[in-house]
Amino acid sequence: MIFPDMYVKNAYELPYKEMYERGFRGIIFDIDNTVALDNGPADDRCRKLFKDLEAMGYKTMIVSNNDEPRVKSFADDVGSDYVFKAAKPSKKGYFEALKKMGLKKDRVFLAGDQIFTDILGAKRSGIFAVMVGKLNWKERPHIYLKRILEVPIMAAYFLINIFRK
Ligand SMILES: [Mg+2]
Repeated sequence: MIFPDMYVKNAYELPYKEMYERGFRGIIFDIDNTVALDNGPADDRCRKLFKDLEAMGYKTMIVSNNDEPRVKSFADDVGSDYVFKAAKPSKKGYFEALKKMGLKKDRVFLAGDQIFTDILGAKRSGIFAVMVGKLNWKERPHIYLKRILEVPIMAAYFLINIFRK
């Protein structure tokens, strides 16, 4: 089974400071529905997040399956480095991101909204995976289908966590 290592309501409520204190120094971000609306631009909240993370001491990397024009313009807007056409859940984009950041995989975590791309790719790469609640439910149909498939996995994840406590 694929399980995220952590779940937060959305990327803006992730305990970044706590994670830094735990030893994390790099963050791999998905774009769509993670830090921005699906196919949407960066807004002020998003720009501030990346600025704050840099000030905290993090390196950030946007890793997206989208093509370069979308990924580069978004990354430039928020002041982050990026990997485009990452083919998540392939490990390729994650390893490229680690190399670009110059960090070992145990110092980096992923923040993404999709189990079968973001989370699966991170887990296969040995990277701590934080699943974030999506910013918007209005998505393209092919993503919506994957959402339905995510429901039993997330239900099992929450059940297991209840019994762990
Ligand atoms: Mg996404």
